[in-house]
Amino acid sequence: MTDAAIYIRRHESVIAPLHKDYSLKLWDLSLDGNNEALSSALVAAKERFLKVYSDREEFRQIREWKTANVQLDEIEARQLKLIHDAFVPNQIEESVLHDIVERETRIENTFNTFRANFEGGKASDNELREILRTELNVVRKRAAWEATKQVGQEVAPQLLELIAIRNREARKLGYSDYYSMMFELQELDERSVFSLLDRLEQLSERAFTEMKTELDATLKRKYGISDAESHPWLYSDPFFQEFPAAGAAESLDQVFADADIETLTRKHYESIGLSIDDLLRCADLYEREGKSQHAFCMDVDHEGDVRVLCNIRKVERWMSTMLHEFGHAVYDKYNDMSLPFLLRTPAHTLTTEAIAMLNGRMSKDPEWLMQIAGLSPLDAHRLSATARKTLRSEMLIFLRWAITLIRFERELYRNPVRDLNRLWWEYVRQFQKVTPPDGRDRADWASKIHLASSPVYYQNYVLGELVASQILTFIHQQVVKSECYVGSPAVGEYLKEKVFKPGARYDWATMLKNATKEPLNPEHFTRQFV
Ligand SMILES: [Zn+2]
Repeated sequence: MTDAAIYIRRHESVIAPLHKDYSLKLWDLSLDGNNEALSSALVAAKERFLKVYSDREEFRQIREWKTANVQLDEIEARQLKLIHDAFVPNQIEESVLHDIVERETRIENTFNTFRANFEGGKASDNELREILRTELNVVRKRAAWEATKQVGQEVAPQLLELIAIRNREARKLGYSDYYSMMFELQELDERSVFSLLDRLEQLSERAFTEMKTELDATLKRKYGISDAESHPWLYSDPFFQEFPAAGAAESLDQVFADADIETLTRKHYESIGLSIDDLLRCADLYEREGKSQHAFCMDVDHEGDVRVLCNIRKVERWMSTMLHEFGHAVYDKYNDMSLPFLLRTPAHTLTTEAIAMLNGRMSKDPEWLMQIAGLSPLDAHRLSATARKTLRSEMLIFLRWAITLIRFERELYRNPVRDLNRLWWEYVRQFQKVTPPDGRDRADWASKIHLASSPVYYQNYVLGELVASQILTFIHQQVVKSECYVGSPAVGEYLKEKVFKPGARYDWATMLKNATKEPLNPEHFTRQFV
């Protein structure tokens, strides 16, 4: 065995227990958020994990092996590549790394604790969002929308300092800026992703404009507005990234008002031959004091301990979220145990998102509503138009919002000294067709937490949707040969063999090509939704 191969094995034996330790602590804290001891235990576990990747001597050696093209088999070479990529962003002076983590934490804390000035008092983000969602009085809606942006002014200077540091460190490592570094380390090609976005923008232009014109008319009627502008406070979330509930003819929530969402999730996966009984037993699915209010799935040890956290309520959103999270969970559960630890994980964030999205969309599928949710054909038929239209509107709205944010984020790193406040509204107007408020010059962009807490991540959501549609089309045409995949165990077999088992053995593009017999092709998505 070569030195490199021995090193890879040793690295695996060091990192696997640290990963498990970190995951377990993260899980515990998610269930008991106010526990100070757990919180510091988590930070310590994270530092132990990251410390492995900051060793300079080891990194020098890895680089040497990589440039010398040492003799390794395919599996070992792939592992070495992933180890290398994990080392790169951690090759920063310890004091600088510490400074970055501190700054990130400070910004996140500002987001968590910030209370906006509103109607003479203080209001939380949740309270303001609730007003945006339900208030019919436009003057009050506008005030609430403006209040959601206050945090941006507070955070922007801190965020810009952080971006300058991220860029400086990326340049020291030989990249043109932090954004390009992160793209390369995520095995994404900047040029092709951005030309894909161009194409998606063009292809969706007409459909989005038509959909939005109709939506605006419905909303204006509801709020009694006659002016022609489509101001940002017209919508029910601060960034117009979601389809406003007020825009739908009928709510799908009625379908799930008496439903057992956990059972329906089991039934869905069982119908495609994927058992989730064991996953449901380890999951934590209902609301509780002190528990995280979000939803996520975590692969604790890459050995079958996969856990889902949800906060189920009997509404369509939670039905969809359950289907989504268990999509991540089956991907992790059915990985190939004969692969080494580092490869027993999805090919990419975007591929596990794709599987989650593919299943999460089903709660708006008329056939699914009959077969799994048990709706009568009459009810299903009545609701199907609303369901299809809602899903399509959601996709179009999300796509245009994501284009706005992704393009802005790239400029934020490429040229952070330009007039960002203005650029933001230029993009919002161009891609989302929302009218900027007169003369507004505020850091509205900085009120989006992702720019601070999940940098260079948003493109994965768009790519995930595209991959979801591509895999779905392949399933419809080649696996089940029908327009609905529910009730067909062949689907589970296909996913296990072609998507789950390869794990991270290949990069995402290779896996996708192997699984669907063609490279990434956005037309499957546009045919479905545009
Ligand atoms: Zn997800």
